[in-house]
Amino acid sequence: MALEQRLQHVRERIAAACARSGRLPEEVGIVAVTKYVSADMTRQILESGITDIGENRPGVAVPKWEALEGQGVWHFIGHLQSRKVKDIIGKFQYIHSLDRWSLAEELEKRATAAGTEVKAFLQVNVSGEASKQGIAPEEAESFLREAAKLQRVSVIGLMTMAPDCDDPEETRPVFRGLRELRDKLNATNVYGKPLTELSMGMSGDFEVAVEEGATWVRLGTLLVGGEQI
Ligand SMILES: *Cc1c(COP(=O)(O)O)cnc(C)c1O
Repeated sequence: MALEQRLQHVRERIAAACARSGRLPEEVGIVAVTKYVSADMTRQILESGITDIGENRPGVAVPKWEALEGQGVWHFIGHLQSRKVKDIIGKFQYIHSLDRWSLAEELEKRATAAGTEVKAFLQVNVSGEASKQGIAPEEAESFLREAAKLQRVSVIGLMTMAPDCDDPEETRPVFRGLRELRDKLNATNVYGKPLTELSMGMSGDFEVAVEEGATWVRLGTLLVGGEQI
């Protein structure tokens, strides 16, 4: 399938998931995960009308960002080593993987030095799998209380990764758990401003995530494909 068809197909599936759950398709943003493909393919993605690009390795992403002269809106979606923060700050507007306090401090320090700001999702390990990054759900409140003091890092929502399942339905409790956590944090207003966003859902499980309230889905294989063009 050509890129335009894949995009059309994904949009239809998002719209159907929204219809099933009483949501509007405009509430769901698509991050095209380009980590498997070249800068040229990434350029084609941007030309297809997608504006948001997701990457997970600074060493690969930064040359791509430079090749594309920073067109688009860039989302950092993978585990981020603190010593790499300086490479991506000012280039990536969104960090989906804020998973520890030392990273928040490094982001604040580097954003201040660069005179920029960054929007972050607090990554939460809802499933509790040892292999998953993210803070434990019960740590979110104290983390946000501290994060509210940061000047340059703005937490806009939560992110999670569901376990790999053959049946996407099995991921539902994880996505629902993230939404319920966000609602609970908003109810106590611990951060001082509402957490509006939920980054959840990948190629294999995005429809369930949308039904459970995702405001950003991160799509690689299904949308971008794995091929190099
Ligand atoms: C690779 C990746 C994705 C996209 O995965 P697909 O299954 O290819 O859609 C989404 N989120 C994160 C954090 C990733 O690393």
